[in-house]
Amino acid sequence: MLTHLCTSCSKRQLIFPSQITAVTGAETGPIATFTCWCGSEQSAPLGWADAEPRKRVLAA
Ligand SMILES: [Zn+2]
Repeated sequence: MLTHLCTSCSKRQLIFPSQITAVTGAETGPIATFTCWCGSEQSAPLGWADAEPRKRVLAA
């Protein structure tokens, strides 16, 4: 599970493993391709370590 700022709907979405359609290797690590809740195909690195711990947005 990861959070991703969608480039289509501009929302930070929670992405579940069931939404991931592909994982490809890159120099920086694995890149996941998945379908956002809005239906847009997105991709993001599967890097848990650099997940912006200090930029957490508290949804109201
Ligand atoms: Zn989206």
